[in-house]
Amino acid sequence: MTDKTVSMYWELLNLCEDFLDSGYLTEHGRAPSLPGLQPLKTGDAGHRTAKLEELHETILECTACGLYEGRNLTVPGEGVTEPVVFVIGEGPGADEDRTGRPFVGKAGRYLDKWLDAIGLSRNTNCFIGNIVKCRPPGNRDPLPDESSACLPYLQKQVELLRPKVILSLGRIATQILTKRTEGITALRGKTYRFMDLPLIPTYHPSGVLRNPEYRAPVWDDLKRLEALLHE
Ligand code: SF4
Repeated sequence: MTDKTVSMYWELLNLCEDFLDSGYLTEHGRAPSLPGLQPLKTGDAGHRTAKLEELHETILECTACGLYEGRNLTVPGEGVTEPVVFVIGEGPGADEDRTGRPFVGKAGRYLDKWLDAIGLSRNTNCFIGNIVKCRPPGNRDPLPDESSACLPYLQKQVELLRPKVILSLGRIATQILTKRTEGITALRGKTYRFMDLPLIPTYHPSGVLRNPEYRAPVWDDLKRLEALLHE
């Protein structure tokens, strides 16, 4: 696909998003029904799948921080077990808490379009998760003790999934993974390391839905991610 074609595709996606913003909901816009894990039948994927399922069973029952008290469902994450990209957000929202799946609301549908624009999908080559696996009340930021309690689960997921690149979404996820304190506007545009893997930060899809001026920098970040995958 040429740069021009990709740019046209991206513009089309943004136009579609404008329709969604204005309340034009289509069947196409709804997230597909997916199981939590979709193994690829290569290498040690079977072993990895078993380990991930074991880990996710533990997460489902976890009471290690106060967030367990208000949750409906835990949201361990979903995708393939040999992802090229591990997409990491901050925490589940209301739709995710209700379904047990990550990024299934409006921001999630928007994220799926971003990924699709560069040939990525939770169905085929990505895994999507969050820093905390239970919804913070009222969608507040996770507290430091809550993210610290949950981080070992994410580290274990990264260890088992072994993605090529991590894409962090938004300020909270990026600050926690990079151990830095700047805002996302200052943090994005560079490549960091998490568990010895390259990490590219970008804005959170819900932030971009509220601030259309973030679309261009997001597209720059996605193109950098795509280039990194092809190195
Ligand atoms: S947020 Fe994480 S550490 Fe806290 S209860 Fe949920 S799974 Fe456990």
